[in-house]
Amino acid sequence: MELFDWLGRPLALDFANTVWPARRRGPVDAIASISDLRVWLDRAAIAATTQDLESRLDDLRGLRAAVRRLLAAASKDDLLPRRAMEIVNLFATEAPEVRQIVPDGKGSRVVSEILSDDPASLLFGRIAMSTMGVLTTVTVGVCPAPSCGLFFVVERAGQHWCSNACGNRARVARHAAKRYDGSPGGSELRPPTAPAGANRG
Ligand SMILES: [Zn+2]
Repeated sequence: MELFDWLGRPLALDFANTVWPARRRGPVDAIASISDLRVWLDRAAIAATTQDLESRLDDLRGLRAAVRRLLAAASKDDLLPRRAMEIVNLFATEAPEVRQIVPDGKGSRVVSEILSDDPASLLFGRIAMSTMGVLTTVTVGVCPAPSCGLFFVVERAGQHWCSNACGNRARVARHAAKRYDGSPGGSELRPPTAPAGANRG
């Protein structure tokens, strides 16, 4: 998997995955510097000017640590850590969300907008709101495939991998380990709850 191939999930996950500790070619932090951040914002098609974010890179990494703690807890069905929730709530106040009713054909619909004049605050607010949405509406997983470890949205029961590529890689690694081990059972790289043939195809 190439760097940034994983983009396109909800913003909270794309943002949390800017740290990729298990990557084969070494750990990645896609927002380690302002120039890295510029590349990520561009690739993730997020409209924000890095000029506004330069002085707030530490805040951004602090928010990311909180988001990652929350997603990790959610992926294990653990209680959400209170301090991390407080941090996300605090950032959410930077860019208040308002709801407006607008015409839609013959009817109407409600749209929500995040209001801020400051692009940096707007980004913090959007990430915070996306995190809340993810925690309350989807099931989050952490991909156990070799050199992955990315957060992903579990879209069907029994889905263990973030992508088919990861599922295939994990199966190849499992077979290789079995051959190396030589015993009939082989080395067990499979996650404990994976039924045989889960997530095939
Ligand atoms: Zn994966």
